[in-house]
Amino acid sequence: MRLIVLTENSVYRRGLLAEHGWAVWVEREGRAFLFDAGQTSLVLTRNAEALGVRLGEAEGILLSHGHYDHAGGLPAALAAARDKQTVWLHRDALVPKFSCPENGRAQEVGLPQSAREALNAKAVLRFVEGPAEAAPGIFVTGPVPRQTDFEDTGGPFFLDPKRRRADPLLDDQALFIEESNGITVLLGCAHAGVINTLLHIRELTGARRPFKAVLGGAHLVNASERRLRRTAEELRALGVRRLFPAHCTGVPAIARLWRELPGVCAPCSAGLELASAA
Ligand SMILES: [Zn+2]
Ligand SMILES: [Zn+2]
Repeated sequence: MRLIVLTENSVYRRGLLAEHGWAVWVEREGRAFLFDAGQTSLVLTRNAEALGVRLGEAEGILLSHGHYDHAGGLPAALAAARDKQTVWLHRDALVPKFSCPENGRAQEVGLPQSAREALNAKAVLRFVEGPAEAAPGIFVTGPVPRQTDFEDTGGPFFLDPKRRRADPLLDDQALFIEESNGITVLLGCAHAGVINTLLHIRELTGARRPFKAVLGGAHLVNASERRLRRTAEELRALGVRRLFPAHCTGVPAIARLWRELPGVCAPCSAGLELASAA
């Protein structure tokens, strides 16, 4: 298995670009997928080139949810494909989405028009309603049940700019790779809660193997003290061996997890590559 972070909010190597977004290249047993596409085609294309990734070799795109910072690079990802490309996503990823902070201006945060046009022209949509296996050992979770009492999975997300209908973000899903020596989890933004997501994956895999790595956005930017404390406790209880908090996790939450889980956390920027022989 090989993972390469193509788009993240930061970079730590020459020649790469950073933006508020998330995209990861996933390879296993000769098969390749793109998990999310970042915010822009520009960054996705440039970083893929700099990291030696040929986007056209992906046999599918797995979309964590329908926010612009994960789907904005779809035009480049789809343009690189020779034929129509399979895109795995939940149906709700396509609905209009807004961020409406209580005292701020509503902003559209769903799929940009260019991504919608690219999907219409070049994609075969595979709507995910539950857990699905994209290739041997590579799964998407489908909707994640909200079962913890400390993860506030709300936030400023609405289906309209007037704050009338809250967006339950049922489209939010994670990717996981099951290997003989453990499970690797790629979060999108974990709007469903990082612990809810890991508990769901543990149920799906029958707790057969440890979580050897968890990467991605944990959306803890506005998390309460209780949520941060309980999240760290649960990550410890779940036995997560390596945690790469990224994207929308937020600096204070990353600092907290780093301190509470000694030796577990590691930096995650565009250019990070993880490989395992299992
Ligand atoms: Zn999001
Ligand atoms: Zn995001």
